[in-house]
Amino acid sequence: MEENGITGFGEAALPPYLPETSETVCAFFSALQKVLSVKNRSLSEGITPFMDLVNNLQPANFAAKAAVDIALHDLLGKTRRISLRNFFHTENLPPVFSSYTIGVSGTGEMKQKIAESGNFRFFKLKLNGENDKKIIETFLSLTRNSEETGRVNFCVDVNQAWKDTFYAMDMIYWLADQGAVLVEQPLPKKMLDETARLTEQSPVPVIADEAVQVLDDIERINGAFSGINIKLMKCGGMTEAKKMITRAKELKMKILIGCMSESSCAVTAAAHLSPFADWADLDGPYLINNDPFEGVKVAEGKIVLPGGDGLGVKKK
Ligand code: MG
Repeated sequence: MEENGITGFGEAALPPYLPETSETVCAFFSALQKVLSVKNRSLSEGITPFMDLVNNLQPANFAAKAAVDIALHDLLGKTRRISLRNFFHTENLPPVFSSYTIGVSGTGEMKQKIAESGNFRFFKLKLNGENDKKIIETFLSLTRNSEETGRVNFCVDVNQAWKDTFYAMDMIYWLADQGAVLVEQPLPKKMLDETARLTEQSPVPVIADEAVQVLDDIERINGAFSGINIKLMKCGGMTEAKKMITRAKELKMKILIGCMSESSCAVTAAAHLSPFADWADLDGPYLINNDPFEGVKVAEGKIVLPGGDGLGVKKK
């Protein structure tokens, strides 16, 4: 987006398993442009009235809305000559650890992924209900006493794959014994009562991902999970994400801030909210090889935000 010759960068990431496509995003932008040509909106009024218009334009279209919202934040920061750190007042909050995702893989592939993980010290292991314990044992054998990786932590993401609550309970206790920090979406999102019983007895936080998308979902799942995974592409941008953070904190829920397969643009936007979170899963730029931007980095396992106004991202 542009105002007075200043450009604000945004990004819509479109995982193939979600309904949005580049065509739907472009159609949304065209519709927005038409509305803006009638109702002139200036950023001097702030982001909220602008995003109210964007959110009311059409339902869903969360990635397209996130792209507009991220660009507005970047533009606002650049126009006011402040970093989003100042905008969100996170200057004095400590950085959080970000995890590096390892998909379901055998020993050789896992070894290679750990070697590629560079400065990360926290790993997210995907489990699918098959060979779950073997995967964790392989990971622990590859990282224990490793001078290369130093001390590491791990969490698991089940992506709704466990269907049996007894198996899930047994696994969660076993995972806690192995040192898992949290378990994400162990059961299908519809199994809310079963998840609530699991969470009640779980020795580690149980985090909702597929079960929570936007602010309104939080009340519905409150009590069934210990916390929520917030992603900008799921919820429609930083404005909605910040509201979710505020509500989750009021309800004493834990916060994980995550991403899809995204470039440094959208991941830097999410990283600006990470000081409010308990953990981050912002490995997107490290898992792609066509990143057009430079922005957030990870050093000694923790998020390092870029300097500069707005998002602080630069085109490569
Ligand atoms: Mg997940």
